[in-house]
Amino acid sequence: MPKVIGLTGGIGSGKTTIANYLASLGIPVYIADDAGKKVMQTQEILEAIKQEFGTAVFDENQLNRAKLAEIVFDNPDRLKALNAIVHPAVRNDYKNWLSQHQKAPIVVYESAILFESGRYTDFDYILTITVPLETRIERILKRETISRDQVLNRINSQWTDEQRVLKSDFVVDNIDIDLAKLKIDEILKILSINQ
Ligand code: ATP
Repeated sequence: MPKVIGLTGGIGSGKTTIANYLASLGIPVYIADDAGKKVMQTQEILEAIKQEFGTAVFDENQLNRAKLAEIVFDNPDRLKALNAIVHPAVRNDYKNWLSQHQKAPIVVYESAILFESGRYTDFDYILTITVPLETRIERILKRETISRDQVLNRINSQWTDEQRVLKSDFVVDNIDIDLAKLKIDEILKILSINQ
């Protein structure tokens, strides 16, 4: 069985950038957000969403993800209901994916909500990416058309870096991508020694 590293960090911390780096080293990387989008295209999940949220979140037969996101964002009960549909499907998809990578020494599971979803207890190691809050806000504002208030709302809906760091085995500061990559290389060395 591979050792599984759970990779996380606040929005705009550079999880995807680091995940891409790990993948470029040949390490299998599972992106939970992509898997969530994939399972939400299956008939079974679409049907369950229609049952729970009604046709208001559909345009014709197409799920309107923005409408759904708007509904669940500020409503913990509705978010819980959506998660109860999507999370088990992602867990199943991940199990299948993992069984296809039995021979890899290390695999990575990347998720923005590793802690918030409670998944963090399922992994051998937790790697958290940190960047000062103001830098994260700047990077997000540069990456997408969104207001500063919207960014702050998203940040406030997640755990803080301090909370994440307390429960992490490894923390990589991503102010400078080259230094972050060096730190990742060091961590991989430590893990291969500990195999
Ligand atoms: P989200 O949770 O919002 O998807 P993320 O944690 O996956 O974000 P990325 O998408 O990897 O973060 O990075 C956010 C933005 O910051 C991207 O535009 C990325 O190119 C840029 N970025 C990542 N790392 C650095 C860095 N060290 N220096 C400058 N820009 C960076």
